[in-house]
Amino acid sequence: MQATLTKPKSGSKDAFVSKFMQDLAAKNPGEKEFHQAVQEVVESLVPVLERHPEFKKAKIMERIVEPERTITFRVPWTDDKGEIHIQRGYRVEFNSAIGPYKGGLRFHPSVNLGILKFLGFEQIFKNSLTTLPMGGGNGGCDFDPKGKSDAEVMRFCQSFMSELFRHIGPNTDVPAGDIGVGGREIGFMFGQYKKLTNRFDSVLTGKGLNWGGSLVRPEATGYGCVYFAAEQLATRGDGFKGKRVAVSGSGNVAQYAVEKVTQLGGKVVTMSDSNGYIVDEDGINAEKLAFMLDLKNVKRGRIKEYVSKFPKAQYHEGTGVWSVKVDVALPCATQNELSGKDAEALIKNGCVCVAEGANMPSTAEAVEIFINKKILFAPGKASNAGGVATSGLEMSQNAIRMNWSREEVDRHLHNIMKSIHKTCVENAKEYGQPGNYVMGANIGGFMKVATSMMDQGLV
Ligand code: NDP
Repeated sequence: MQATLTKPKSGSKDAFVSKFMQDLAAKNPGEKEFHQAVQEVVESLVPVLERHPEFKKAKIMERIVEPERTITFRVPWTDDKGEIHIQRGYRVEFNSAIGPYKGGLRFHPSVNLGILKFLGFEQIFKNSLTTLPMGGGNGGCDFDPKGKSDAEVMRFCQSFMSELFRHIGPNTDVPAGDIGVGGREIGFMFGQYKKLTNRFDSVLTGKGLNWGGSLVRPEATGYGCVYFAAEQLATRGDGFKGKRVAVSGSGNVAQYAVEKVTQLGGKVVTMSDSNGYIVDEDGINAEKLAFMLDLKNVKRGRIKEYVSKFPKAQYHEGTGVWSVKVDVALPCATQNELSGKDAEALIKNGCVCVAEGANMPSTAEAVEIFINKKILFAPGKASNAGGVATSGLEMSQNAIRMNWSREEVDRHLHNIMKSIHKTCVENAKEYGQPGNYVMGANIGGFMKVATSMMDQGLV
């Protein structure tokens, strides 16, 4: 998806942002998504740097945008016909000030260093917001799992882990899933890690329940996003009951966002994939969601097949999901999937709340529109932090060699989302922008990392 940067505004504060972004772009050419993610954070942090000149003197901003380590490697694998393929693998170990690197692995043909740096950079602040001791990192590969057999996916995952294993560890770097990496891929990678190291380490999260996984981890990002949106609606004395909701995507995050909205009394009327979207005016209830889970997670089919099973729904090719009239929008597919025009359309149709399940799904222009129009807008680093938070809970359970009940994990998750919401609200207020969750999340996430970096000296 196309990235759009907003121009920094004029004025002395903005001169700082402008110069910072020029230097960053010169040093990291062509990495559009990374530039976009950094610009949003730097703009939010200007008042913090004014209040804390010690951060400026210690060049915390310049240090925080430079990954501590970036690894790229060759991933050769053989398909079922015996043909050899060569992919490029990556792990960006961005910041370990508050804990071991932690963040997803993405397998998608669009993967490149700029996308993984944007994800790793956002992860620093998101992980800090969870209150758990996790640094920021991200990785992946330009491999496309779509249309591949299980045997091909296994051979690829084994080859990927044959290099990655030497860079990760339970106290070093603990990857998880992301786009194209679900339970199947985590399983194949964990098997290969164990074979190479002869250790049953807590080195990946999103593991199967029988071998170290946590209850509620598959549901956590989607549930967490809806818990966050519910907190936002509550600030206006409202809730999900009776609300029409648009969800984009039909993968892990989207699926469980739909489930939780329905449980809270809302009606989800859309889901999508990279080919198109469905509109179901009757709502995607539990029975229809079960069909979707089987279609996407087992049959690995396309969303248009939904209308063959439920003919009252409609299928549309393309990206028009945000033109549907809804009260709440939960973008849960991918970066930059919601443009400025989409934001205008949502607002015109009466949408009051947008909580990002995906990472950076709204363009910079869309974010600006939501903030200016005082929509309840939650940036992904706050509203999708439930996934990594529950990964942190999986690590805790592994460390004490015990499994918590579903209720216990869900209670922790819910409390963490409430606490992130509170952090955002308080920081936005403290810095004179009440209701601005972007600013609140960036400042809340930054403070803990920045002070930890100060404590640990120039490393
Ligand atoms: P999945 O691979 O399970 O699902 C991704 C969904 O997004 C699919 O429906 C996919 O459609 C769609 N999609 C992917 N790329 C595009 C594209 N270029 N255009 C339109 N649709 C697209 O991934 P997840 O659900 O895990 O991740 C979704 C988002 O949530 C990502 O931004 C991810 O970084 C973020 N996230 C995920 C977390 C997790 O725990 N899994 C945690 C925090 C954030 P198709 O099947 O056609 O490719």
